Amino acid sequence: MPSKLRKTFLLTSALGLALIVVLAVCAINTARLQTPDYPKVTAAAIDIDPDAAAQRLAAAVRFKTISYDEDAAASDAELTAFNAWLEQQYPEVYRQIPHEVISGHSLLFRWQGKDAGLPPMLLAAHLDVVPVEAGTESAWTHPPFSGDIAEGFVWGRGSLDDKNSVLGILEAAEALLHQGFAPRRTIYLAFGQDEEISGRRGAGQIAALLQQRGVRLAFVLDEGLAVLDGFIPGLRKPAALIGTAEKGYATFDLGADGPGGHSSVPSPHNPLGAVARAVARISQGAMPIRLTPPLRGLLTGIAPAAALPLRAAFANLWLTRPLVLAQFKAAPSTRALLQTVVSPTVFNAGTKENVIPQHAAAAVNVRILPGDTVQSVQDWMRRTIGDPSVSLKLRPGAVNPSPVSAASGEAFDKIAGATLAVYADVAVASGLMIGLTDSRHYLPLAAQTYRFLPSRLRPEDIDRIHGVNERIGVRNYAEIIRFYATLMSIE
Ligand SMILES: [Zn+2]
Repeated sequence: MPSKLRKTFLLTSALGLALIVVLAVCAINTARLQTPDYPKVTAAAIDIDPDAAAQRLAAAVRFKTISYDEDAAASDAELTAFNAWLEQQYPEVYRQIPHEVISGHSLLFRWQGKDAGLPPMLLAAHLDVVPVEAGTESAWTHPPFSGDIAEGFVWGRGSLDDKNSVLGILEAAEALLHQGFAPRRTIYLAFGQDEEISGRRGAGQIAALLQQRGVRLAFVLDEGLAVLDGFIPGLRKPAALIGTAEKGYATFDLGADGPGGHSSVPSPHNPLGAVARAVARISQGAMPIRLTPPLRGLLTGIAPAAALPLRAAFANLWLTRPLVLAQFKAAPSTRALLQTVVSPTVFNAGTKENVIPQHAAAAVNVRILPGDTVQSVQDWMRRTIGDPSVSLKLRPGAVNPSPVSAASGEAFDKIAGATLAVYADVAVASGLMIGLTDSRHYLPLAAQTYRFLPSRLRPEDIDRIHGVNERIGVRNYAEIIRFYATLMSIE
């Protein structure tokens, strides 16, 4: 064989062999994929009357416990009435579990466990709801505070966020107490009054109190991700995603000043132009893309339930990672899982068409991916703007991304086990929460922090949260109650 041909032959053989090895590894990885072995949990055997429970949730929706940005005290009377009503509805909880009222309306129950040596768990939820945007009332099929039950749903503000959790937890505890149940591990139930406007008076104060008392928690479970059906094409089951981390939050104010003057004799420095340029640079720039552990866990967790091409892709991230990331990057909803995202939201400059403004300002809201920090984002913004005449100020209230909790181990397994016991048809995986929850206030107290409320959502339901036609299925609500009861009763 001539040496040139021989070289080509050897090279082709080597490439062919490499390809075979790659394909074989991919095939083995795909075939070996198995649903993680969560400890088998039996669903709590409590009696749930779905219709009666739905009636109580509907009644809860009728309390307008609205958090308004402008006035934190505007709904004091509604919160007081709601709390009094809760006490009537869940007599065993209030009789047998000591509770404290914090900041006027927030509730902290401490359900003593039989084994004082075990660190407690804390179930968090919030009593407040967001307002109904003016002008959208008529778009609701059932008025937002009607608490109507129709077509198999409880309708109204708070039915998904987050009175289904507050009442779901109380229904579960009430039913267990009726059976004479006592938990092995101490359980805190913590219901804040102002989650929708920072949570500082509710969860913030509850957390401070627990910290003062030296409480160390095994884990916190708060609202967050859900049982998502139809979100991931090619997935044969709904995905129950347990949020193991949440993104951080920051708002920056950009500003520039100049001499102003008449538009007929423009000075070279126009503040409006400077801020506009800065906003454009930030919008065109991009923070790095990363596959963080919550998302990696999501992909590998749902892979066994995925149809073949997807299954092979998720099982072989060592090879397919760039492809998968490119896919995720393509849509805004999935890009948010990969990257710190930046949205200019406010712009102010000028009052008159022929007057150059002396001042221009913009606000930019940022959602920070685990791995980045408020500081690293600020540094990136400074560099990207590249103009010392534009000031950059961080607003108070910025939050770093949470640490990432374990997607395995005792606490995660309990939540996964309780989910699988009640929702037989789902794939459990970790996930990244892109919004803020009250859970951040408890981070210093807890070994692990999870964000999951098993409402069944389809893609078209996402807009119902904080939007029009918020509703929850009556049967789904019964599942949520049983989920909480199961979690409370796992030994
Ligand atoms: Zn909420």
